[in-house]
Amino acid sequence: MVVLQREVELPIEIPEPTKRVRNNKIEARGIDFSYDGTTKILNNIDLDVKEGEFLVFMGPSGCGKSTFLRMIAGLEGFDNGDIIINGTSVKEAHPDSGVVFQDYSLFPWLTAQANVVLALKQRNKTKSKKELAQIAEDYLTLVNLGHALKKYPGQMSGGMKQRAAIARALSYGSDLLLMDEPFGALDPVTRIQLQDLIVQIRAQQNRTVVFVTHDVDEAIYLADRIIIFAPGKNGAVTQSIEVPVKKGTNRQKLFESFEFRSFRESLLNEMNEQILNSIKTEVSEGAGI
Ligand code: ADP
Repeated sequence: MVVLQREVELPIEIPEPTKRVRNNKIEARGIDFSYDGTTKILNNIDLDVKEGEFLVFMGPSGCGKSTFLRMIAGLEGFDNGDIIINGTSVKEAHPDSGVVFQDYSLFPWLTAQANVVLALKQRNKTKSKKELAQIAEDYLTLVNLGHALKKYPGQMSGGMKQRAAIARALSYGSDLLLMDEPFGALDPVTRIQLQDLIVQIRAQQNRTVVFVTHDVDEAIYLADRIIIFAPGKNGAVTQSIEVPVKKGTNRQKLFESFEFRSFRESLLNEMNEQILNSIKTEVSEGAGI
């Protein structure tokens, strides 16, 4: 049986939204993008993400999910349109977000604690070394790495490294968390533990999360809404699907429930249909050449 994360208080409070109607945390309008000026990657993408919402991007490899996530993180530009985060365009100011990638991106010459301290320093110019070390320890304890503060990435397993990367992203204190296949390289048990860690963090704090995955069970377990990216001749288009499955119940019961299994099947059917449609379009257009 998988032992879930123990409940611990998170070190930095993220305030609840004050308004009853949640504001849009992210607004993307008319995003077009091509890396080389010829092959279009994204085609006129519009997307609103509410404060506190958990959004998952799914779709076949190569259809622009990571590219779009990097745009939200301010790490990639775009050709047309705009992305507004907290009311400000990403063109005007680097968005405030914590980012987790699949490859951990820890500095190998720094311990787990020093990796988190380095991130904390950027936002906490007035805190002493000792205070920063304590906050880093709190976050690493939260992700069950309290015993590994002084370990270097080379001395940690994949799951430990990803826990450290999550601790670092959380420690920024931003309420926007962007995660690009964060559990893709982990064994199934560690993956389940980290999914539950994310569920726990969500239950305690009002973080808005955008999360890329290929795993349909992970997507349904975590998401309020799934955005399916479908390939197309003029770049990927997206479709938004609300997840109608009630959360907060026992994981195994949830996965065995009729509502979970029937939604899973309809989601897979929808994704398959979109891929088939895009292949049919390309074949019929190719046949005319
Ligand atoms: P996904 O996340 O859906 O797998 P990506 O956003 O990684 O898709 O990639 C979308 C497309 O853009 C792919 O065809 C990929 O090869 C291409 N691509 C990704 N990054 C770059 C880059 N830095 N330069 C050129 N092409 C890229």
